Parts: sequence; C-alpha cells; structure tokens
Amino acid sequence: MDFFLAVLILLASLAYVFYPLFGQQKSVQAITEKERIREGLLFDKEAIYQQILELDFDRELGNIEEDDYNRSRDDLKKQAARVITALSSSAGENGIKKAGKALLCINCQENLAPDDKFCPYCGQKQK
Ligand SMILES: [Zn+2]
Repeated sequence: MDFFLAVLILLASLAYVFYPLFGQQKSVQAITEKERIREGLLFDKEAIYQQILELDFDRELGNIEEDDYNRSRDDLKKQAARVITALSSSAGENGIKKAGKALLCINCQENLAPDDKFCPYCGQKQK
C-alpha cells in the first residue's frame, strides 16, 4: 500500500513539474504569424546594424577601400530603411487597433485595409 502511495506522489510531483513546461510550449506555438514576422524584422534590424558597425570598424582599421565602404554602407542603409518601414507599419497597425478605428474582419477580427473585399488572414468575404 505504501508503494502505491509513493508512486502516486511521484506521479503527482512529476505532473506538477512538467505541466507548466507543456503549458509554456503551447503559448509559444500560439504566437501569431504577425508576431513572428515582427520578430524576424527586429532580428534583421539588429543584424543590419551589426553589419554597419563592423563595416565602420573595418574602415577605422583601414581594412576596406573607401569605395567599397561607401557602397556597402549605402546598401546596408537601404536594407535598414526597408526593415524600419515594415516595422513601423506593423506598429501603426497595432496603434489603430487600440484606437478602435480599424476595419476588422467580420470573421476573425483581424485588421483590414479599407478596400479589402476579402480578409487577407482568413479569406472571409467582407460586407
Ligand atoms: Zn478574417
């Protein structure tokens, strides 16, 4: 009888330890596509800034020709601008949602552009 009790307590404590882990995993999977894209953009932004820093550093050390430096830096700046534009437009979307002025899908409540006939997220035809 003591043995069964011990097994029961062991199972209960295992469940106690592992259950929150499973719960966490689920919430990670529940991250929306939009958040994933945003995470990716933030990651890209960091990577581009890092490359610009490295480029500046190479130039300080005289490891890079002035022409190469200017060309690479322009290129990186363009990439950074694209990422920042994409980021600020997704931030703007959230701002609109908070203000409650956005057009929302009648099915999934995602933000729609004023001229969207179909929801880009779920495909629902809008009235
Ligand atoms: Zn929808």
